[in-house]
Amino acid sequence: MVLLKIVENPAQVLSSAAADVKKFDAELATLLDNMYETMVESDGVGIAAPQVNKGIRAAVLELGEEREVLEIINPVITEYSVDTNVDIEGCLSFPGLFGEVERSNGVRVEAQDRDGNLFEIEAFDYDARVLQHEIDHLNGVLFDSKMVRIVTEEELAEMYAEEEEV
Ligand SMILES: [Zn+2]
Repeated sequence: MVLLKIVENPAQVLSSAAADVKKFDAELATLLDNMYETMVESDGVGIAAPQVNKGIRAAVLELGEEREVLEIINPVITEYSVDTNVDIEGCLSFPGLFGEVERSNGVRVEAQDRDGNLFEIEAFDYDARVLQHEIDHLNGVLFDSKMVRIVTEEELAEMYAEEEEV
């Protein structure tokens, strides 16, 4: 596998809507494998194709405490919960930037797998947040535009320190 270069903001590919994937071929499979590798290497929980300079609707993420890998091709959010929550997000394309973003508690997503098979997934809480963040990427929407408050690295360090004490 190959580590890919992560595109950092600002970049045209990040702020443009990505194109539908039409070919479910070996090239797509290799891209997904390399995106996964790149995400793990960068300590991310999700990565969208535009972040590796591919303007196509594909993303890889990890769900749950088991960090189960999910690949979503041509995903569409078909349902959002009315209830929302605010939590801290970061993004591989914005090194050092963290902030609070309001997201729906739950989403239902329709997508295709790497072979083109349609599937549906329901996700809640943090998983739903990651899905919304990655699917935003495919629409050229970046988390800084939704941020309600920037969280400094000092604040983050304090939060982690408190968590460790518990
Ligand atoms: Zn991101």
